[in-house]
Amino acid sequence: MFFPGKITICEVGPRDGFQNEKGVISLEDKIFCINQATESGYQVIEIGSFVHPKAVPQMSDTDEIAKHIKRKDDVQYRALVTNLRGIERAASCGVNKVKLTVSASESHNMTNFNKKPYETINDFQACVELADKYNMSVSGAISTAFGCPFEGPISLDRIAELVESFMRIGIHEISLSDTTGVANPKQVYERSQILTNRYSNIKWFLHFHNTRGMALANVVAGMSAGITHYDAAFAGLGGCPYAPGASGNLSSEDLVHMLHEMGIETGVNLDQAIKLGAYVKKMVNHDTDSYILVAGKVSDLVKEKPIGQINNNSSS
Ligand code: ZN
Repeated sequence: MFFPGKITICEVGPRDGFQNEKGVISLEDKIFCINQATESGYQVIEIGSFVHPKAVPQMSDTDEIAKHIKRKDDVQYRALVTNLRGIERAASCGVNKVKLTVSASESHNMTNFNKKPYETINDFQACVELADKYNMSVSGAISTAFGCPFEGPISLDRIAELVESFMRIGIHEISLSDTTGVANPKQVYERSQILTNRYSNIKWFLHFHNTRGMALANVVAGMSAGITHYDAAFAGLGGCPYAPGASGNLSSEDLVHMLHEMGIETGVNLDQAIKLGAYVKKMVNHDTDSYILVAGKVSDLVKEKPIGQINNNSSS
């Protein structure tokens, strides 16, 4: 099995995590969490989204967040946008990386944009041109890329069509999102292999939700196919819009922990990531989907209990 030596993680908790929280999260708390994510060593952080405040009230302060966070030069601060107004807002508060999202599912995309997915991407061209003027880098994301709750499986041909549409408007960084947690490792491996071979000039991100417990396995599958960029959210925040109460994003600290156990570098300080996850869990005041926050690190276990002691105490 092939594994890369280094993986880059994008911390999407401030956007994909917080936007699913019912309780209001204060501006101060959001800024604190993003600053801690920077300090922990994440190289990409999704800080919020520039969408209409009525559409996603929890994200209405993204402009203020962008103005007040402590940035590091080697960290990319990414925000989600859907239109020209979003690009303007991003530019006015110094955000230099934006993400344009389309849904691979026609019905899902019709609900969001009232257009077919490829038409949505064609319309993004004006956004890319404006972003260029502001020297902003633009990435694309394809949600429900592994399956849709309304349409079922999403074909590889559909994904290829959307990837090519993104390439035509000048986007060469694409995230494939398993928005509803339906992807399985075999599918991820096969799809990633075909896409990375066919479109070798694309920088790929994979974004998994742990709705059905398959997220870490899917990362392993994606890594085996050579993909080195993954999204994850502190404490495993987030949710699934079609399965209320279901688990959220893959937890960042679980991902960092697994990779470090495998000897794969992330550039993230695991202890700081765990501290941040614990802070977030306490702040939102409900259970979240993070194994490490409950069980602790494997390395702590070994330190605390020498092998002899484990044998003496174990009953089965
Ligand atoms: Zn997501």
